[in-house]
Amino acid sequence: NLRVRFAPSPTGYLHIGGARTALFNFLVARKEKGTFVLRIEDTDVARSTQESVDAILEAMDWLGLSYDEGPYYQSQRSELYREKIDQLIADGRAYRCYCTAEELEEKRQKAQAEGRKPKYDGTCRVLSGRAPADTPFVVRFLAPVEGETTFADRIKGPITFRNEELDDLIIQRSDGTPTYNFVVVVDDATMGITLVIRGDDHINNTPRQIQLYEALGYEVPQFAHVPMILGADKTRLSKRHGATSVMAYKDLGYLPEAMVNYLVRLGWSHGDQEIFSMDELIEKFSLENVGKSAGVFNPGKLLWLNEHYIKTGDPVRLGDCLVPFLEEDGLDPTNGPALPDVVRTLQDRAKTLVEMAEGAAFYYKKELEFDGKAVAKFLTEDKIAIFNDLIEGLEPLDMWDAEAVGGVFQNLMKEKDLKLPAIAQPVRVALTGGTTSPSIYDVVVVLGKETTLRRLRDVLP
Ligand code: GLU
Repeated sequence: NLRVRFAPSPTGYLHIGGARTALFNFLVARKEKGTFVLRIEDTDVARSTQESVDAILEAMDWLGLSYDEGPYYQSQRSELYREKIDQLIADGRAYRCYCTAEELEEKRQKAQAEGRKPKYDGTCRVLSGRAPADTPFVVRFLAPVEGETTFADRIKGPITFRNEELDDLIIQRSDGTPTYNFVVVVDDATMGITLVIRGDDHINNTPRQIQLYEALGYEVPQFAHVPMILGADKTRLSKRHGATSVMAYKDLGYLPEAMVNYLVRLGWSHGDQEIFSMDELIEKFSLENVGKSAGVFNPGKLLWLNEHYIKTGDPVRLGDCLVPFLEEDGLDPTNGPALPDVVRTLQDRAKTLVEMAEGAAFYYKKELEFDGKAVAKFLTEDKIAIFNDLIEGLEPLDMWDAEAVGGVFQNLMKEKDLKLPAIAQPVRVALTGGTTSPSIYDVVVVLGKETTLRRLRDVLP
């Protein structure tokens, strides 16, 4: 039974790369009907915060990445780690190292001067018993010096490290806390993880971890290292390339389905298909189709996907998503036209929810803000003279739909020998405050009879 995990360190928000790793894990778990475990790697007490845990959980929730187990917290598992370290020492697979920082630094410099790769020289492998009880020590793993460590990466293919390249890893610091490579192994093993999917910045850790699995008598899981994400300039993705926090995109008016669709295509492909629903991804995703080379972050493509999901989205759901953006602009969407109707008139015109909220503002404003130039051009006495006839035509309507409203406009055009824009532009300015809006019939219909007539009358002398 497949078990995967996402193991973020809560030292900041969930960034694009982390979210993609979480998504890949989620998709594999769902596709294989396996289990998706969430583990919070908060052993770095100084940098881990509850705020960051909350931010990560919130972002996963927003993306729809539900997990089946957890969150587990490493900070609550120290007992287990201590037990396992004692076990390794008792088995002769780890030892106390009393070398001081100064001694190690001296050796490091010497190695460098002699052109050797600095590596712990194993002094305490044999001298371990020497120190008085209160001497500070670290615990080192007694790594094999001969042979090779090999694994078949599900994305990168076979990878081999020569064991002599790897030195005796510190598994417990002098303050008694265990280190990352050690706790990851204990956790993944005891949580029954069968496949580790993570960023390829961890590839160099993998042979050390495999050695630890073996020393602890655990079965080694499979590994899949996902290539990193670069900015357009081919350097590692960072804030210089724009927002890297997933939730920053929520605030910029992106939909989670656009973000998910975007993230999955950062490294994975399925022919030349670009648009995938979550269900389709669960069906089609496979690690075998994740590329070996880095993905390049392309904000333009993310925006394009967002536009697609806004255009094709369910108006009721989009309306729900729009509420916080309207409220942010001081508007009350419960007091005015029904949100789904408003959304329908704007879906073709907005690339983000922020743009949609801007476009929707006139529906909910108590006092319209008029664009001075538009007023000067279109609300002149001669141009609005027709409003009296228009009001007269609209007032008796029982059915308030595009057909009935359109009929009144058409009659007026015929009667006065005018083209639509000659009526529509002044009406648009009177109803919205400006010259750009959805089609004028849509605006009139969605705004409703009462507001339409009031706004028309308001601009009459
Ligand atoms: N906590 C590690 C990180 O955030 C992930 C470790 C792993 O996936 O093995 O980079």
